[in-house]
Amino acid sequence: MFSKLLKYIKPYKLPFCLFLVCVVLTSFSMLALGRGIGYFIDSGFSSGEQRILLKSLALLLLIVTILAFAMFGRFFIITYYGEKVIADIKTDLFNHLIGLSPEFFEKNKIGELISRITNDLAILQSTISSSVSIFLRNSLMFLGCLIILLYLDFKLTLIVFALIPVVILPLLLLGRRLREISKISQDRQADLLCVMEEHISLVKLIQAYTNEDFVKEKFKNSMRSSLIIAKLRILIRSFLTVTVVIIVFAGVAVILYQGGVKVFAGELTTGEFSSFLFYTILMAGSFAAMSEVFGNIQKAKGSTSRLFALLEEEAIIVDGTDDIASFKSIEFKNVVFSYPSRAENTINNLSFKIKPGDMIALVGSSGAGKTTIVELLQRFYDVDQGEILINDKNIKKYKLSQLRKVFALVPQDSFLFSSSVKENLLFANHNSSNKELEEAVKMAKADKFINNLPEKYDSFIGEKGIRISSGEKQRLAIARAFLRNSDVILLDEPTSNLDSQNEQYLQKVLTNDKNEKTVIIIAHRLSTVKDADHILVLDEGKIIESGTHDNLYSKDGFYKKLVDLQFNA
Ligand code: ADP
Repeated sequence: MFSKLLKYIKPYKLPFCLFLVCVVLTSFSMLALGRGIGYFIDSGFSSGEQRILLKSLALLLLIVTILAFAMFGRFFIITYYGEKVIADIKTDLFNHLIGLSPEFFEKNKIGELISRITNDLAILQSTISSSVSIFLRNSLMFLGCLIILLYLDFKLTLIVFALIPVVILPLLLLGRRLREISKISQDRQADLLCVMEEHISLVKLIQAYTNEDFVKEKFKNSMRSSLIIAKLRILIRSFLTVTVVIIVFAGVAVILYQGGVKVFAGELTTGEFSSFLFYTILMAGSFAAMSEVFGNIQKAKGSTSRLFALLEEEAIIVDGTDDIASFKSIEFKNVVFSYPSRAENTINNLSFKIKPGDMIALVGSSGAGKTTIVELLQRFYDVDQGEILINDKNIKKYKLSQLRKVFALVPQDSFLFSSSVKENLLFANHNSSNKELEEAVKMAKADKFINNLPEKYDSFIGEKGIRISSGEKQRLAIARAFLRNSDVILLDEPTSNLDSQNEQYLQKVLTNDKNEKTVIIIAHRLSTVKDADHILVLDEGKIIESGTHDNLYSKDGFYKKLVDLQFNA
């Protein structure tokens, strides 16, 4: 795992080496500061000579200046390059996730996945840009302090060592408890935000059912429980401050007394004793800081391994190698398929063939497997048995990027990005000219409403297209598919949100176009599919009838029942 992380750090080798130099410099200059203070007191202060006082002050200033610059370098380099490393991991994660198969996103809830990644990245970032730095610096300082203390006074150092656990342990324990409570408190706050967000987004429903008072009460209760935790957190925090002041002072008092006795006895100079005190506090601080960040570094191990596991997640759909020449036929041959999360087959031994220029309609009750056929064609899932052939070759053999270019999909939900009309259209084909754009829009009958928008093609359509009506969204999605200029158009209930006039128009476009383009259309409104060359009637993943409208209608079967239900209801 560490070697994987090292791969991301490697490109910034030089800055990271510079960082290490700065860490050593800060630790050394901090250590030198203690000796400097001793020198200042013993030689500068006690000499009674202005010149020596100035000289010792100049020495202190030099040490502080080196310390300040080294601190600047240490902070800047590790924070900036730490963020760069995280940005590289984030980019790789995004690129990787975009390529994963839909099955992965069915097994992992997207909301949870994103919040886990965000959380893990934040932990990793704080570890790289602060915890590691704190740990390195403080372990150097701890060691340095220890050596100097032992050199200054062996016995006094032993007393310090006996005191460290007494002073630090209660603080560490309280600190840990505080962190646990803070985490619970943060979670409660986050829950509260979620409750707020959900209720505000459903405000119309709440008002329509006049449930304002009920919701207010619910919110008040959540708020109360979050406040109780907050109170506990604040109490522990305040108690920690009291403890710090008393315990630390008591500890220092013991050393002051022991040291004072030694100074009286002439075993230590005042300057040496001041240095001793300085190093003791510095060492205690380093120890506390090291144990503080040790937990963070442990936590980062878990986060890093989760992030790298995600980066190693393989796409379940394996890419092929062959190119597709111009499209000549599609064939389903005894296809059997069940969704990974389902035991029963969604598609049951399905066979049919489509020629270029055909318009094929898939009809049947909801859940019959129509959308699944469209998904299988684009290889979002692989079939369990049988095969799907394009130009008589299994689609698994083709490069995915080429296979998917054969199709232009108009999905059931229009799936629009929160950007402008133009950007949404160009998503299908980034190289389209304005003329092509306008033609596609005209064909989808979206021109009139786009021209009525305040900024026409540059109008922002809101999150997932919330600022335009469902019918308008659908027409944009259809125009986008036309712009793709693919051989086969896949329409999944393209008219469900269109009024009759627009539906008739679309039907005309599709039938006029049928000599050129192959159309596979799923429709609940059977008026849309009347002119199809071939209608496949599906039930439980099987074809139960097939033929043209007239042909099927005269048969008095399932199709006739569906048509009669719709037109004579
Ligand atoms: P239709 O388009 O004919 O309404 P679908 O092809 O969408 O039907 O769905 C066929 C069956 O497969 C339904 O029972 C549906 O619940 C199930 N299904 C659809 N998508 C998934 C999925 N991603 N995971 C599991 N089951 C699914």
